[in-house]
Amino acid sequence: MRLLVVEDDSAIREFLNRGLTEAGYRVDVAPDGKSALALVDEEVYDGFIVDLGLPDMDGLDVIGRCRALGHTAPVLILSARRSVDERVRGLEQGGDDYMTKPFALAELLARVRNLLRRGAAPQMEAVRLRVADLELDLVRREARRGSDLVQLTTQEFALLEYLVRNAGRVVTRTMILDRVWRMRIDPATNVVDVQIYRLRNKVDAEGKRPLIHTIRGVGYVLKEN
Ligand code: CA
Repeated sequence: MRLLVVEDDSAIREFLNRGLTEAGYRVDVAPDGKSALALVDEEVYDGFIVDLGLPDMDGLDVIGRCRALGHTAPVLILSARRSVDERVRGLEQGGDDYMTKPFALAELLARVRNLLRRGAAPQMEAVRLRVADLELDLVRREARRGSDLVQLTTQEFALLEYLVRNAGRVVTRTMILDRVWRMRIDPATNVVDVQIYRLRNKVDAEGKRPLIHTIRGVGYVLKEN
């Protein structure tokens, strides 16, 4: 398991490097946002530990750029910022967990283990996802039902991928906005419903068994029946 630690404080950076290496991880370190982004351009990581207060940019921007580059590995935010607002903002902008400094190494290791476990399935998975006769090719970004190619926009594909990854589980509008749009949108907006409607017209076309189900007042679930 390969981790990237982005932290400008050299003492903390080395402490993390040593602690994580001793725990069996392969660790790369970056002292600022620019060098972190240079690394993620070259390497694939299983997880990120990112300090928010970096000398050249905000850690949240580093996370945003990683996500935009297609990195889906879990992110543990490390920060001296303690307020609830800061935590919420961090988690909304692509962080998967948040720890405030000072922290205990044992707790950090436990959280990293936990995050990697959650991230493990998508990381190790094949290039195809399947539910019933619906198949997603994640490399070609193509969806098929049976032998029929389903023409989707990039956003529709991302939404369908999210539903398929969570097949059998109800996902709320807020979860979809957070994970598919990855930005702060008023949950009262109907953007999700509109996209689901369009997606359904394509995926669950006439004559096909419906896979996308509405759970009234809650959200959506993709499942066989
Ligand atoms: Ca810092």
